[in-house]
Amino acid sequence: MREIYLDNSATTRCFPEVAQLISDILLERYGNPSSLHHKGVEAEQELRKAKQILAQILKCNASNLYFTSCGTESDNLAIIGAARANARRGRHLITTKIEHPAVLETMKYLEGEGYEITYLPVDENGLVSPQQAADAVREDTILVSVMHTNNEIGALEPVSEIGAAIKAKNPKVLFHVDAVQGFGKAVIHPKKMNIDLLAASGHKIHAPKGIGLLYVGDNVKINNIIYGGGQQGGMRSGTENVAGIAGMALAAKLLYDHLDEELDKLYAMKETFIQRVSAMPGMRINGLTGRESAPHVISLSVEGVRAEVLLHALEDKGIFVSSGSACSSNRPHISATLSAIGTPDKLLDSTIRISTSVMNTQEDMDAAAAALEELVPLLRRYTRH
Ligand code: PLP
Repeated sequence: MREIYLDNSATTRCFPEVAQLISDILLERYGNPSSLHHKGVEAEQELRKAKQILAQILKCNASNLYFTSCGTESDNLAIIGAARANARRGRHLITTKIEHPAVLETMKYLEGEGYEITYLPVDENGLVSPQQAADAVREDTILVSVMHTNNEIGALEPVSEIGAAIKAKNPKVLFHVDAVQGFGKAVIHPKKMNIDLLAASGHKIHAPKGIGLLYVGDNVKINNIIYGGGQQGGMRSGTENVAGIAGMALAAKLLYDHLDEELDKLYAMKETFIQRVSAMPGMRINGLTGRESAPHVISLSVEGVRAEVLLHALEDKGIFVSSGSACSSNRPHISATLSAIGTPDKLLDSTIRISTSVMNTQEDMDAAAAALEELVPLLRRYTRH
């Protein structure tokens, strides 16, 4: 049976070129970049090359970039690091109700440490209002954190406008953006967008798991949260994951070299899929569609069918999707994003997420739509109303 992988917001398949490069580095250029001999220098050169590629994409300096183990660690380092470095200036932080647990749980931790957190609401499409964000900023606010692209419904937050609005109210406030779902699918230039701290993750862009990126703007003060050998200027101790770093940089380059064509392809696949499933009764697409939404995320509520049942029925046909957000599926809960946008209670448990990548084809989407057309009426017959 052909595998149709439509859970790319959970993780992606490695690009073959990336897997090859990683294999070469693990087998040939495996030195520790801190070593003084030739093997160390070779590894150090891989690091430098990767930083240059990523710096070019983000239009920043290589010195603005730090590598971590994942998007979660990048978010933790940005938020906890900023809170600790700026505690004397204030103890108030702002975020939104629809952030990923990597941000929400970090904020909860800080609440326990005596910080005060404001959680901004979103509208029915999951969008944060720049004006509301600015209104929430106070003299003692040290950081605002808003995601670039929501992982559950694909809302594209107006980050540039939010950055400008909060800085106009209080120029000292730091702006953190979780771009784990946006990096690789959108042009992101932190400096131009008033972003001080930006998190990204390798495994969402066809690089392996175990590598994350944090952009830290010039003159932005954050404390390290890991202590050790002082690698990466002491900001993130621990021997660098050279192969992962090089792999992430290559994956990003492959995506950004052809971004416009890839976006055209992803939006076209999304559009035809939505048109076809919307023609079925009792289907609802959550959030905006078209270019106002993320190119790769489709949140679909299927009236009268439990998401988990539909997920496994699709799996029987070799089609892999997720229910709600895969990143938190080991802790059953009602999706914070779906609740925040006012999804009716009866649909909370009936929502699946279909997330695509450039490795998918139109045939994949047609097969998924055909499977839904076949399965949904059948499953509805067996669901008690
Ligand atoms: N932030 C968002 C928006 C995500 O979607 C995810 C993962 O799904 C993360 C953070 C966490 O990234 P990682 O899995 O690399 O820790």
